[in-house]
Amino acid sequence: MKLRLCLSVVSLVFLAGCATVRNPVTGQYERTVMDERSELAAGQKAHQDVLKEYRPLDTPALQAYVNSVGQKLAKASHRAHLDWHFTVVDSPEINAFALPGGYVYVTRGILAYLNDEAELAGVLGHEIGHVTARHASQRATRQQAAGVGVLLANVLGSVLESKGYGGAGDFTSQISQVTAAGYIASYSRDQELQADQLGAEYLAGNQYDSARMIDVIRMLKNQEQFGQDIARQEGRALAPRVDWLASHPSGDKRLEDIRQTALLHHNPQAASGRERYLKAIDGITFGESREEGVTRGQQFFHEPMGFALTAPQGWRIQNTSNELTLLNSTGEAALTMRIVPTSAGATHADIVRTVFNPVSGSTTQATINGFSATHFVGVARVQSGTQTVDATLITGPKQQNYLFLHIAKNAAILQREREALLGVEKTFRAMSEKDRILARPWRIKQGAFPAGGFAQLAKRAPAALANAEAQLRLLNGAYPDGMVKPGSLVKMVE
Ligand SMILES: [Zn+2]
Repeated sequence: MKLRLCLSVVSLVFLAGCATVRNPVTGQYERTVMDERSELAAGQKAHQDVLKEYRPLDTPALQAYVNSVGQKLAKASHRAHLDWHFTVVDSPEINAFALPGGYVYVTRGILAYLNDEAELAGVLGHEIGHVTARHASQRATRQQAAGVGVLLANVLGSVLESKGYGGAGDFTSQISQVTAAGYIASYSRDQELQADQLGAEYLAGNQYDSARMIDVIRMLKNQEQFGQDIARQEGRALAPRVDWLASHPSGDKRLEDIRQTALLHHNPQAASGRERYLKAIDGITFGESREEGVTRGQQFFHEPMGFALTAPQGWRIQNTSNELTLLNSTGEAALTMRIVPTSAGATHADIVRTVFNPVSGSTTQATINGFSATHFVGVARVQSGTQTVDATLITGPKQQNYLFLHIAKNAAILQREREALLGVEKTFRAMSEKDRILARPWRIKQGAFPAGGFAQLAKRAPAALANAEAQLRLLNGAYPDGMVKPGSLVKMVE
């Protein structure tokens, strides 16, 4: 949850007309709605939107390092003349994406799982490939030909497909995921394969072993495997993913495809840059960040805002950019919490009027752990007519107002779960000193692999890290059962 509005798809560059351009990769002429100039303009504009949604990670040395690897690859690409930008964004999602014109992004989430510079180069090379082969422009042109219209929604589609999954095994909002998945406008299978091939080519052109592309795909495949294993253990359905895994099939077919290409330029002597890479990412945040709030077991802490909440046993806490959701054990009812902007009004009564525009309803006042609260039950005017609403406003620390909305599958369940939802609201409190210790963000640290293996490494991990042994295996490319030599340098969580 952050104090920012979600990515606006409205502020898109308007494009019209058709041109013919020569594809820098294939040399073929193609009909397009985006020539290089409009590609650059679109990229520049969308880059600003991306920065509104994703904060660049505040680690200049790491940014410079990723940029240097990216620039090297871009210089050996089919569009070396573009003004390339490489940005590490502060997100736990496992993701990488690119915008037309030469803007490439990797999340700190994916960096945690990569094992060396060659794998990083593999990810960057793949994204550079999407740019050099003009994939977004091709997609936009196809869609316009098909009468779909909004062109750059596609460009931002490649950003939106990244919403949702937290790398540290935390849960994310199924509701938000499904919504975001609706926007996914992924590249075609052929485009993905071409990006893999180009990535492998750019690796080879920079003294990396192109076969390392295979390890990147394998890392994604292991993430997918882990997700399935955990879902099975917990006896729940696998939530749809909307990150790099969703848009980049990591199945055996892709592995097979890339194996053939990557081995063409295979260079087993090439340096992996492992030590340099591990040093560069040493100390980066793993999982949720202080700024967005952290989930620790059944507790949620938002240090900058100074509040804490506790979910009952069996409930799930889902922390996404726009809201915090506490989902009950059956998944049929939830409490969502949002930050109320000051523009919505100064008093609870004002806010109820602005947010719900009620037809009818009543409010009751209460105090929750010293904070003033107003509960509203009534009928609100919504776009499609009217809707029954059950909601609570709380003025928390720093005079910030929060809106808690009760949601359920149907009215009967809403009624049945009412007391439980109100009970969760009552756990809203100012953070204590003890909470502040629990809310400390986790970090990736390098260290020597112990003789006791991953089980021993897991003992050094924070107690609240779920499935610690499996997570550490994933982080070190050893999931589900890989071996690591004692004494060798590995990543740990602390
Ligand atoms: Zn791709």
